[in-house]
Amino acid sequence: MLPNSVREALLRLNEAGFEAWLVGGCVRDRLMGAEPHDYDITTSAIPEETEAVFAGERIIETGLRHGTVTVLLSGEPLEITTFRTEAAYSDHRRPDAVCFTRSLRGDLARRDFTVNAIAMDADGRLCDPFGGRADLEKKILRAVGDPEARFREDALRILRCARFSSVLGFAIEPATAAAMVRCRELLAYVSAERIYTELTKLLCGQDVRRLLMDHTDVLGAVLPELLPMKGFDQRNFHHIYDVLEHTARVVENVPPAPRLRWAALFHDAGKPACFTLDEQGVGHFYGHAEKSRELADAALLRLKTDNATREAADQLIRYHDWPMEPTAAVVRRALNKLGPEGLRDLIALKRADNLAQAPEFRDRQRTCDEIEALAAQIIAEQQAFSLKDLAINGGDLRALGIPPGPEMGRILDELLDAVISDRLPNEREALLAAANALCP
Ligand code: ATP
Ligand code: MG
Repeated sequence: MLPNSVREALLRLNEAGFEAWLVGGCVRDRLMGAEPHDYDITTSAIPEETEAVFAGERIIETGLRHGTVTVLLSGEPLEITTFRTEAAYSDHRRPDAVCFTRSLRGDLARRDFTVNAIAMDADGRLCDPFGGRADLEKKILRAVGDPEARFREDALRILRCARFSSVLGFAIEPATAAAMVRCRELLAYVSAERIYTELTKLLCGQDVRRLLMDHTDVLGAVLPELLPMKGFDQRNFHHIYDVLEHTARVVENVPPAPRLRWAALFHDAGKPACFTLDEQGVGHFYGHAEKSRELADAALLRLKTDNATREAADQLIRYHDWPMEPTAAVVRRALNKLGPEGLRDLIALKRADNLAQAPEFRDRQRTCDEIEALAAQIIAEQQAFSLKDLAINGGDLRALGIPPGPEMGRILDELLDAVISDRLPNEREALLAAANALCP
């Protein structure tokens, strides 16, 4: 069953004598048995006609230039777009002009992939001129028309293809995949923001490992950092995979949150640059965490990532290789540095990293269990791990005659350090005595 507002919109357009169809992701998702996150309607009505059909409703005209009228029906925004075709693309990203048409087929022909070029009317009838239904059943992504021509028109489609493949778990039809490789340099014309959006969805998709492994060259056009990882033999007993395959497995094994997936993607990116061989012929990567963090930071800045995601990823990469003993003092220190969410993320990354190493080191999963249990206990018992938890504050130190400033900060930090490492109880009297002793 369609949502009422969607059905109503289709029927109102039909009653006024226009064709109206659902199209794109919502049709694809419904045919796959998934709940669409939004519904796009395409119609033979030109925008003025659509506005007349919905006169009296709230209408938003922001997309008008592209033929899109947004109508609010029972509070739900619905995008209604006139059938259109696109004139030549001379900059590999935007059509030089959009033209309205009264032909649904013409509209479907400009769409990117066959599974995105199926239309469905209010009664559930399909219009599927490019075999989208069959490709959906075979789980295949295939460009509508000549793939190379379509990627040359709009290079973003190359990344959309990779993204849909990862998210939907669909294979890319060979001619479409070959055209992606041939056209990959055209991704230079696509804006950083759009690249970031597609890559982030790709990284959070179910089949991200396959995309990273099988389409490295295409992704390397926007993430050149991947290329040295491919085939890089680590020559170290901890590892059974090259850097790229190890990385792809870590990405797949962390929860699908952008900061974690991006951190996993870059956590070992600095390894090729840090590689050394010892006399026994064993490979080492001293300093790789910092090098990887630098590469990630530069890449995420280049892709215009939001600061929160970039900084969270940077921090995870910096600490991913930290040895952590499962003791209360170590965990309190980590909580102080990273906060509860940051520590949870770091353990998730460490678990995934370990699962993608040689199997004889799997006992480190148990260390992760122990650290998580300790963190839960420390938080539940409200043990002190940050300055605000300390049983005294700056006011107490002022009363002892210590002026506010760097000296006071140093003393508070030392007291907290003593409490975190169990050298002092978090009690007023004990802390005041220790503060007195620390006064210069
Ligand atoms: P989702 O919204 O789940 O990411 P979607 O298929 O709805 O997937 P949108 O970006 O919302 O993707 O686009 C809606 C539809 O518009 C697509 O299904 C496709 O038919 C068409 N489309 C979007 N972008 C392009 C493009 N760059 N080239 C050709 N057609 C496109
Ligand atoms: Mg959509």
